[in-house]
Amino acid sequence: MTTLSIHNPADGELIIALPADDAESVAAKTAAARAAQPAWAALPLERRMACVRKFREGVVRDLEQLATTMTRETGKPIRMSRNELNGLLPRIDFFLAETEAAIAAETVFDEGGMKEQIQHAPLGLVANISAWNYPWFVGCNVILPALLAGNAVLYKPSEYATLTGLEIARLLDEAGVPRAVMVTLVGGGEVGTALLEQNVDGVFFTGSHATGKRIAKALAGRLVKLQLELGGKDPTYVCEDADPKAAAESLADGAMYNTGQSCCSVERIYVHEKIHAAFVAAFVEAVRSMRRGDPMNDDTYIGAVTRAPQLDVLESQVEDAIAKGAHLVAGGERRIGAGNWFDPTVLVNVDHTMDVMREESFGPVIGIQKVVDDAEAVRLMNDTRYGLTAGVYTRDEQRARALLAQVNAGSVYWNCCDRVSPRLPWSGMGDSGIGLTLSKYGIQAFTRPKAWHLRTQ
Ligand code: NAD
Repeated sequence: MTTLSIHNPADGELIIALPADDAESVAAKTAAARAAQPAWAALPLERRMACVRKFREGVVRDLEQLATTMTRETGKPIRMSRNELNGLLPRIDFFLAETEAAIAAETVFDEGGMKEQIQHAPLGLVANISAWNYPWFVGCNVILPALLAGNAVLYKPSEYATLTGLEIARLLDEAGVPRAVMVTLVGGGEVGTALLEQNVDGVFFTGSHATGKRIAKALAGRLVKLQLELGGKDPTYVCEDADPKAAAESLADGAMYNTGQSCCSVERIYVHEKIHAAFVAAFVEAVRSMRRGDPMNDDTYIGAVTRAPQLDVLESQVEDAIAKGAHLVAGGERRIGAGNWFDPTVLVNVDHTMDVMREESFGPVIGIQKVVDDAEAVRLMNDTRYGLTAGVYTRDEQRARALLAQVNAGSVYWNCCDRVSPRLPWSGMGDSGIGLTLSKYGIQAFTRPKAWHLRTQ
């Protein structure tokens, strides 16, 4: 039998080796889920909502244990693990409040003996291949609306957040969702590949651009609904009228929260030359004050880097930037010893010849580039193949709106960053993906509009 070994990224210790799925078990679980889905869809919505309400109660009841599990397997500072779980609760409340209206049948015409209706029918059986950085958020953004809309779900959590994935499944099971309707698959990319070979009605993926492309290729010719939520290289522009200290503190948090491992982390910063020096000084001070240490400590802000191979990416981006003329003003080093550790790193005198300004860092590394005016800032913000989020810091709302209207991104921020709302659609442009989660559209994403033509007389 194959196993999946789960290590603590903070110290390298083996936490557990779990029995993993293989092609045969994936096929058997898929067949069971396919068979179970129609009965789940036939339940009144209120019954499915009752399960999600009970799931929410389980999250609240077990919050401390769930946070500890997530911190141990991902290296996320415990305070941030608690924040993620607490932040999940209003998302659950949003889905509970909005699903009925989002999937209710619509009568769009009723005249002369002819009625026309749109039914939001469930897709059927959906696959969710997920990332590890916010496993509760990215898992539940798919699982909960999919289940509420009447789908069965085949969920493959990341191999770096499998214990959390199993906790999500446990709580849904305890809440009354049939085991064949909410199915968890344990393993790495090979189990994801086996899942893609199954007869599913939709594939919802969160992860890297490289894997997203592989998944799109694997599904080519299959006509299966595909949604990809991928990485970013999210820019922010700080105008000369912004308060440099307040902007620096906000953006240092946006760049380094979760050790820089957020899909919407601030990944590059452009600062007007008039306040560049003051901004950089305040930014470095903010970064130096961030406590590094055991992710289980309440006051730790910078935790472990979850995936060891990412340390090479971070090191290579820093070396490439310095070789091309960047100045290192904080950090720059991986720490040798047990676990995966990289010091929070700030580079200035950077430009777009450098990987650090073009490729996703997904770690505690940031480049800050000086710009002369708004036009240069917009040009540089759009000089990317990604388009997840982008922000502007200025006192002038009209200026912010005018700038953000020109930026290619799924979400834009004025005087804030690294923010996701259940009420707003979460989507990327370009290589940041296709499709969306959250908002009412992120509920309808798990349905297919079916057209009803009814002669009533
Ligand atoms: P990843 O692409 O390495 O893995 C994601 C998932 O895909 C895992 O479950 C993995 O086992 C699976 N997988 C790997 N190879 C596969 C294959 N060939 N076929 C099928 N499945 C396969 O990504 P990751 O390291 O887990 O996540 C980090 C990335 O996710 C970053 O780029 C980040 O920006 C992005 N992300 C995006 C969002 C968003 O909402 N846009 C949210 C979170 C993370």
